[in-house]
Amino acid sequence: MIILNIKFNKPFHSDNEQLYIKKALEMNSLSGDGYYTNLATSYLENRFHINKLLMTTSATHALEMAALIAGIKPGDQVIIPSFTFPSTANAFMLFGAEPVFVDINPTTLCIDLDDVKNKLSTKTKAIVPVHYAGISCNMDELRELTKKNETLIIEDAAQAVNSYYKDKPLGTLGDLSCYSYHSTKNYSCGEGGSLLINTSNKIVLEKAEIIRQKGTNRNSFIRGDIDKYCWCMAGSSYVPSDVLMALLYSQLENLDFIFKKRKVIHDYYHAILSPFVKNGTVKQITDIPEYNTSNYHLFYIMMHDRKRRNILKDKLLTYGINSTPHYVPLHTSIMGKKHGFDKYTLPNTDRIWDTILRIPIYPDLTNNEIEFIGEKLVEILKEF
Ligand SMILES: *Cc1c(COP(=O)(O)O)cnc(C)c1O
Repeated sequence: MIILNIKFNKPFHSDNEQLYIKKALEMNSLSGDGYYTNLATSYLENRFHINKLLMTTSATHALEMAALIAGIKPGDQVIIPSFTFPSTANAFMLFGAEPVFVDINPTTLCIDLDDVKNKLSTKTKAIVPVHYAGISCNMDELRELTKKNETLIIEDAAQAVNSYYKDKPLGTLGDLSCYSYHSTKNYSCGEGGSLLINTSNKIVLEKAEIIRQKGTNRNSFIRGDIDKYCWCMAGSSYVPSDVLMALLYSQLENLDFIFKKRKVIHDYYHAILSPFVKNGTVKQITDIPEYNTSNYHLFYIMMHDRKRRNILKDKLLTYGINSTPHYVPLHTSIMGKKHGFDKYTLPNTDRIWDTILRIPIYPDLTNNEIEFIGEKLVEILKEF
């Protein structure tokens, strides 16, 4: 029996990364907002028509900045899915907000807009759609829901760099958004992120800069607008080192290459697995709505129950193929139970956590590995 060792994920390495990191070191560009930060920022702003992008130390920190900019305070409610990474909740709870958990739509695995409608109240300060797998909910309908009370939309676009809703890049549709460049994401620098600010309101833009720079107006000073900088308001340190931005820039130069590699793998899995969806062996596979262009962040197989999902996972592992489920739902996690969030009834979230399995999708997979995974999937699924 042939056994390979196929990791679930491997970060992409570009030809220029060591050169750019070395250059940053040689230029003594070590702290934030240096040469490579500017290059990477301009690249993203131009490519995705972003009004204002600020590089941050992580998407988690970008969400915290969003909470500070939005003036989140105790008594505020923030609507979020339970099917997400803990940061989506933490960022708002740190400032005293109560997360209100909504279920996900069973096809998109993004927030269920009917559930959002039911849970909207005068206390709702923001809604945080999570673009799971680089796929979104219907953003037009979501915007419509927020109009009455001017509720903010803060996109958790951590997984959605280079994904689109209709002709608009995800991350540019909310009032504020975050991207992630964690090493598990499509375009990465180990740890890093961005805050996207989709308003030209000068007060908001200035506030964001100050919050990011330890509560100081240092960015105005760097631009030469003022001759000394000082403490202006509450803030923290959300600025990434230029050395990491050198790494990020080398990845952004390969944005189209990485995208194409992922698309080829996605299309192959899709072709191989579709018959098993048709004959009912598999409940569902990654399903991209017509309104989205995906960045192919992840590929999932959803089985009919937990038992069959676990059998599939174990059998893949006997061939050395690593796969992994997703998201202990926040409302039933250790923290969720501590806060009594397990009172929520979220049937789609519970079922999908029980039945979903993500399989390897990354540019470094060789053709041989991709075909091996496909072959073994077919073999295993035929036995069900
Ligand atoms: C990865 C991820 C985050 C956190 O990103 P970091 O850059 O690691 O802080 C937040 N939300 C979602 C949906 C993610 O996938």
